[in-house]
Amino acid sequence: MTLDDYEQQFRLVVKEKDRLYKVLEVNAIISSSLNLQVVLDTLMGKAKEVMESEASSLMLVDEEAQELYFYTVKGEKSDAIKTIRLKMGEGISGWVASKGEPVLVEDAAQDPRFSRKADQKSQFHTKSMMCVPLRAKKRILGTVQVLNKLDGTFFNMADLKIFEVLADQAAIAIENARLHEMATVDQVTGLYLKHYFLARLEEEYKRARLSGQPMAVIMSDIDLFKKVNDNFGHQGGDRALVELAAVIKDTVKEKGSVDDIPGRYGGEEFCVLLPDTDSQRALEMAEHIRRNIESHPIQIGEKTAKITISVGVACYPFHAQYIKDKEDFIKLADEALYICKHRGRNCVALYEEIKPDPEPENNAFQITRL
Ligand code: GH3
Ligand code: MG
Ligand code: MG
Repeated sequence: MTLDDYEQQFRLVVKEKDRLYKVLEVNAIISSSLNLQVVLDTLMGKAKEVMESEASSLMLVDEEAQELYFYTVKGEKSDAIKTIRLKMGEGISGWVASKGEPVLVEDAAQDPRFSRKADQKSQFHTKSMMCVPLRAKKRILGTVQVLNKLDGTFFNMADLKIFEVLADQAAIAIENARLHEMATVDQVTGLYLKHYFLARLEEEYKRARLSGQPMAVIMSDIDLFKKVNDNFGHQGGDRALVELAAVIKDTVKEKGSVDDIPGRYGGEEFCVLLPDTDSQRALEMAEHIRRNIESHPIQIGEKTAKITISVGVACYPFHAQYIKDKEDFIKLADEALYICKHRGRNCVALYEEIKPDPEPENNAFQITRL
């Protein structure tokens, strides 16, 4: 070997080492956030850079439709292709997802498996391509692909080895997110489960006490839900719960922040944790939810159910004198909710202390709870 050869070998080794360091950095990305979109966006950005390619993307399998859809796309023309779906077996990615094997393509135009759908929609011109399946145990979750090596050459076996490591990292992130969701989200309504809500409440309460930032809890209960069950059957009632939960989730998404936690506290009791939210904003959110539910008649079979809710609100530091732990937060929001029931339902109330009336018969509400 000449000195030049050695020098060239040396440069290649240094470059490989750099690439491996970048792959290792991906571990930090995965453990830095529970937000799957953020994790996979960052990871695919990294993949594009490490694989020195013009574009990268991640597709997931929609099990029901037996199709692949884009979850993350990195590259100049990324927006144009996000709505494209491929049947299993369609295109290179569809082939990889159905066979479970990676593919290296030197010239896409010459490969009969290649689908032109994405190129046509985005005015992109795919030349070389590398596509790898995303696996969790024996299941195929989707595919990752990089397109067009920047230096005009093709992806090779050394690239494939590194790309497969990145694909494994992506698959782990997806699987982690799925397990986290199963452990924290009510599968019927899509709202957070009570135990997760309470754990987050405890965290946020501690944080609020240290930082002095405000926070709030909303607790709601469906009005006269027993009648809904009586009129529409228990299954009809269940269907109504799913729709009402969707209204709450949408309202929180539209009017609140990404940190808000809408939960299912009991059978027909919904709750929302609002970090960094003062009493004014919490009351506004509660009123938005109440109003959206009131104006959302629910079709159950041939009939329509008009459902309303009562909503109680407790806030920190607004109610600090009554709150020493997370249980007090729930208790206060719950008390506020019963004030609503007492006032005739379908309304919102901020917790207020109700002093015993000197006339004992006027205290019936406090004793019996409506
Ligand atoms: P109020 O306005 O006082 O809240 O009247 P209500 O009839 O809603 O009374 P309450 O909240 O005490 O009772 C709730 C009823 O909701 C009792 C139960 O049969 C029904 N329920 C609770 N969980 C579920 C559920 O998951 N599905 C269905 N279909 N019904 C449920
Ligand atoms: Mg109830
Ligand atoms: Mg009720």
